[in-house]
This record gives sequence, structure tokens and C-alpha cells, in this order.
Amino acid sequence: MKPRPSIFSLAKLCPRAPWLAARYPEQTTYASEGLSVDAAVSAAIRSGAATTREAERLCLDWLEQTFPTRVSTTVQRTLALTDPETGATLVAGTPDLFFQVDASPLIGLTVHVVDWKKNEQRLAGKLPPIDDDWQLKIYLAMAWQECPVAVRGQYHRVCWSDSCVFPESSQVYQQVDLWGTIDTVKAAPEVDPEAPKPTACKGEHCGRCYQRHHCDAYLLPAGESTPAALVPLTIPAMLAPEEATGALAWLAKAEATLKAGKALMEIVEAALRSYVDRCGAITLDGRSWGAKTNPGRRSGPTVKELEDNGLYHLIRDGKPSTTYGWLKK
Ligand code: SF4
Repeated sequence: MKPRPSIFSLAKLCPRAPWLAARYPEQTTYASEGLSVDAAVSAAIRSGAATTREAERLCLDWLEQTFPTRVSTTVQRTLALTDPETGATLVAGTPDLFFQVDASPLIGLTVHVVDWKKNEQRLAGKLPPIDDDWQLKIYLAMAWQECPVAVRGQYHRVCWSDSCVFPESSQVYQQVDLWGTIDTVKAAPEVDPEAPKPTACKGEHCGRCYQRHHCDAYLLPAGESTPAALVPLTIPAMLAPEEATGALAWLAKAEATLKAGKALMEIVEAALRSYVDRCGAITLDGRSWGAKTNPGRRSGPTVKELEDNGLYHLIRDGKPSTTYGWLKK
């Protein structure tokens, strides 16, 4: 099988990621909460069902204001990307929404795909750059094959919270790009979860890899750095110059120790989370360690986004403060 659309962007950077995704098909907390909003928005578009959450209403408002004249709107339908030469299914997926817009007879039909995402995913750096979002590129190619008279295509990623939506749109693609997407999917290596472990290619993209707690390439280097024991330090009330240097050396060692300890804790916690998901809470000395559901945090635009949108009046200046730390050279 080919890498599924949601892992395709990572699969292009690291062959280990789709292999792990096939072996450990876990659902993220982002996905489980996102699914309820996706379902409510889909029901509202499909049948006019009432929305209950502010996030759902914000998504619908964005859709109505951005595409008031859409036609042939389809929600949550599983589609296949097929090889035009053989008719074989290359990969399947379920775009949240797709429709066509007839901007003018001169331009012709444009097919649009929309994906609803949690804004927390964007703020946590879990999403690829919009024009490199292969999940949406593939969804667009699938929808385009359903609307073959369309001459242009565009996809939109709308990140929602209960206070705002943050929409991003891809460039407008021409039909030649559709063939390019199909060729890329055809060229992608097959994923066989029973095959030997593929090479891991680590990089910044590991930050958005949901399989990293199963990835020894990612975890082992952290596990190799064992925290060093800290020697006791006596600090006089007023430091002499040589004592200040010694205290700073101790502080640097303490920072490295804490960093190594934190990395090890992350590994152990990831293993425990995985265990709890499968087997339930663990009890130790009368205390339980397990999963708990917390109310969602409110989130909103960053200061940069407010500035980019000219909303300077919403930005508050904080009081100046003094911090101490390592100074840049
Ligand atoms: S954590 Fe990084 S190296 Fe490991 S599978 Fe994911 S992307 Fe690849």
C-alpha cells in the first residue's frame, strides 16, 4: 500500500514514519476532538443541522463568507485516487469537504477542498507548510478526479478554536499539477508494516511526527545521555569573583543534567502513555497514573497574526521585566 494521505508529507522526508504509522495506527487527541467538530460542521452543511459550539459556527461562517456561490458540495465522502492509466486505486481518503465554484465563464470551474484542523495543531507546529501539505494535495487530486470538467484546483486548511478561525489557502493549481500529484503518489515506495524497519531520517520534521514515541532513532540519543550526579554546592551570601565563576559552572552542569533527565522522562512517559492507552491506569503506592480528560484551553491568534491583520488595538503591552540568563555574544 502507498502511504496514507495524512502521513504523506512526512513519508517524503522519512521512510520510517509511514512504516511506524502502519504498525501503530493510533488516534491522536487532536484527531478525536477534531472529529466531533468535523462531524458537526459536516452535518450542518449537509442538512442544516444546528451547531452547538462556537468553533463549528466560526467554520460555517468562514465557508459562507468565502464561498457563497459554491456548487455540488460534498462532505465527508471517502474517495480514491486512481491511476489514470490502469484505473487501479493508488490511495484512499476522506476529505472533510469539496465543492466547485464557477467564478466566470472565462476562467471555468475551480474545485476546492477544505480540511478543518484544530488551531492547537498549528500552534504546536504539527502542520506542514500549506503548499507542502500532501494530505490536502492528494485530497484535491481525488476531488478533481470526481469533477473532471474543473480546470483549476485549490485547497484550504482552516484551523479552528472556540475564539477564531485561521484559514490558509494553497496556490491555485492547474491541471498539470494534478498529474504531478498523481505521479508523486505513484512513485512513493509501498509501505509494508511487516517489512524490515526502514531507515529513519531525523530532522525538524520529527516535531510533527505522531509516531516518534515508537521511533528508536528519535528516542535513543536522548536515552544515551544519562543525567550526571550534581555535587553539593555551598554558596556564600556575597559571591567573590572566583566563586561566581564556580557557581556558574555548577549552574551549567545542573542545566545539562536537568535537560538529560527531562529527555529520559519523556521516553519513559511515552512508554507509559502507550501502556495506559492499551491497559488502563497503573497504581503505585496507592496512587494511580493514567489518562484524564481536561477541559479544552481557549486559544486565539498570536501577536504576529494580529499585527499581520492590522488588529493593533487588540495587542496589549506587558510591563517590562528583567530576566537573567546566558547572554548572546
Ligand atoms: S520521529 Fe523522526 S526519524 Fe522517527 S519516524 Fe518520525 S520523522 Fe522519522
